[in-house]
Amino acid sequence: MKTGRRILSVLMVSVSMLVMILTAFTAVPVKAKAATPITIVIDPGHGGVGDRNLGAQYNGFSEKELTLQLATALKAELEKYDNVTVLLTRTTDTILSLDSRAQYAKNVGADFVFSIHFNASNEHEFYGSEVWTSTFGNYYQKGTDFGRIVSGEWNKLGLYQKGVKTKIGSKGQDYYGIIRGCVERGVPCVIMEHAYLDHDYDVSLLRTSGFINKLAVSDATAIAKYFNLKSTATGADYTGFTYTHAKKPYGRLYQDETGPETCSIKVLAQDAASGNILVEMTTHDSQSPVIYFSYSYDGGRTFCTLQMWDRTKDTQSFNIKVPSGTNNPVVVCRSYNNYEKMSESTPVQVTGSFNY
Ligand SMILES: [Zn+2]
Repeated sequence: MKTGRRILSVLMVSVSMLVMILTAFTAVPVKAKAATPITIVIDPGHGGVGDRNLGAQYNGFSEKELTLQLATALKAELEKYDNVTVLLTRTTDTILSLDSRAQYAKNVGADFVFSIHFNASNEHEFYGSEVWTSTFGNYYQKGTDFGRIVSGEWNKLGLYQKGVKTKIGSKGQDYYGIIRGCVERGVPCVIMEHAYLDHDYDVSLLRTSGFINKLAVSDATAIAKYFNLKSTATGADYTGFTYTHAKKPYGRLYQDETGPETCSIKVLAQDAASGNILVEMTTHDSQSPVIYFSYSYDGGRTFCTLQMWDRTKDTQSFNIKVPSGTNNPVVVCRSYNNYEKMSESTPVQVTGSFNY
């Protein structure tokens, strides 16, 4: 509001000065990028031989191969846009240190590094996509802005979205080497974990025909939106695309190390004739969104596969079907935030014989 009044008073003095001031006040960085040539570095994660260099290896998928395939397809997609130079940190199956990848990005004057990865978890229980960004100021903001855009694109492909996260190492720096190395050299960087190679939910998507190409189009579209690119070749035009900037953190943004503060359940109804138990669960985490839940009807000995939790709600109800022949089932539920930290409810005994 104050700005407007200042501009009005200046208008009466000098038109040229108004133009100068308007330019200063309306200089939204996302707008200025479109016409300026940009350099994008795509970093296919892993490469070469030896355990760590292979990345995740599950269900016939090899992470180091998928990352190179996707990076190559992404380069071709991005090159359809005007004013963009696209470079890869590796184009063959070779070992490359995280530092040399970051140094390469610095040497070529990269505007952004997109490190391409696929995921896996120790217990093979998680699924979905996630983006890791730096915890520091501008780098956090850029990575989070981009992460939100690409998450919207991945969501359209049916991938569950875990969100954008940060992780700090023991020395107070960004935990992940590629992000740390890039930020130390003044280059924004995100790690893009597209999907889990060790979970059926994601694997079934990865096995659909042309899925890597679909990911490449999603990634390219997100980058084009982020940088307000347009393509003379295809007619795609994101010069008018706008987004709300993530708030820059004041200090370091530490990762969430604890499970949701609340996780409680109530049995709302039971029907022995159909084997159904209707459960209401309330869970909340003030630090990070709750994204999965699971339930047990044998007192916590076994749990169902992780279900999607509607992160816009603290309370949700769902049906548990117990097998015929179950007597006095004991229901326990778990909730997980997007840092995969879990909380468990107090067990609730349901009295009755479920025979149907
Ligand atoms: Zn990886």
